[in-house]
Amino acid sequence: MNILVLNAGSSSIKFQLLQLPQGKVVCSGMVERIGGKDAILSYKTDATEFKKETDVTTHKNGLTKIVSLLLDHDKGVITIVNEIHAVGHRVVHGGKLFTDTTLINEEVKEKIKEFSSLAPLHNPHNLEGILIAEELFPEAKQIAVFDTAFHQTMPVKVKKYALSNKFYDENDIQIYGFHGTSHKYVTAKALDHLKLESSKIISIHLGNGCSMTAVLNGKSVDTSLGFAPSNGLIMGSRSGDIDHAIIFHLVHKLGYEIEDVEKMLTKESGMLGLTGHVDLRDIQEKAANGDKNCQLALEMNAYRIKKYIGAYAAAMNGVDAIIFTAGIGENSALIRKMACSDMDFLGIQLDQDKNDERAGKIREIQNSDSKVKVLVIPTNEELEIASQVYDLVAH
Ligand code: AMP
Repeated sequence: MNILVLNAGSSSIKFQLLQLPQGKVVCSGMVERIGGKDAILSYKTDATEFKKETDVTTHKNGLTKIVSLLLDHDKGVITIVNEIHAVGHRVVHGGKLFTDTTLINEEVKEKIKEFSSLAPLHNPHNLEGILIAEELFPEAKQIAVFDTAFHQTMPVKVKKYALSNKFYDENDIQIYGFHGTSHKYVTAKALDHLKLESSKIISIHLGNGCSMTAVLNGKSVDTSLGFAPSNGLIMGSRSGDIDHAIIFHLVHKLGYEIEDVEKMLTKESGMLGLTGHVDLRDIQEKAANGDKNCQLALEMNAYRIKKYIGAYAAAMNGVDAIIFTAGIGENSALIRKMACSDMDFLGIQLDQDKNDERAGKIREIQNSDSKVKVLVIPTNEELEIASQVYDLVAH
């Protein structure tokens, strides 16, 4: 079955065409900087690969260009659009309603629109992607895979904030959690790899956005991102945990507009705010060359991860395995080393040589005395989305 996976963001559309059940990637690519003449279209198949500047003013424009490429006589991979059997859409917010992957109909689209108030930066674009895909692939099944779905298993005592009950009951204010597709994928891989029946796993997704999830027997029981993707770990440009009194102080005492505070916390904080850089590779390089701000930012980053490891080990009464995944988790031996240092009381001990190895597959990096397995697992959200779509459509 040919499944097209789409991830429509505010100014980009990522796509991947996969053949299921084999999981073969037929082609992949992205349109970035949608909205102007300097958009970038990248595309890769077994036979060809390119990246070029092009004029893409709207999302519809972008997706139409992608479809033309898929159908292209030379570079294409299909001859008619009906060869795409299903389109899997990454949808960030499924509110309280969507606990699983869902076939899209009018009601589902209405709900995705309704939940835009909970994820204003994501859901409207996800929905736009759905509407355009329905037009361009009229015969294909359209399926939504929600980032929040995996965390629906969290108990109420975890997901409810200590606010007046009406906010939970009437206004849907609660912890939703994000990166669910990634956490689900890597924990399933870990369970398969470790052949565990019952399990206490801490999944650490460190990319531009970062989150940790406590996964008890395959189910999410706590997670570090909350009502929006802003809580918890220190991220590329998001602060993670702060005392909300800072917001009142900025507004009431320092004269900030609330919009500026929002921008500051989501776009100008985190590693960017601390160092002037978003990309961890730059920060690591500067730290190695003696930059004090970069050194401190790395220590703060690793310390926050460590705190959540402790919290989740306590929440599950133990931990069998820790997983590092996503851009930083898979590639930064330094962050893994710092986050796992002085954790032998919990039974976590790394083997530094194994930690330093580079490999694009599942690997264990703990030493022989470590009670806890420490795994590096490459995440693959597209494959997880395609697999979930396949399970829904084929059965
Ligand atoms: P993601 O959101 O999963 O694509 O992760 C993107 C981030 O991963 C980048 O912003 C970098 O900070 C980080 N990253 C990617 N490659 C490396 C690397 N080799 N070493 C350290 N960090 C990396």
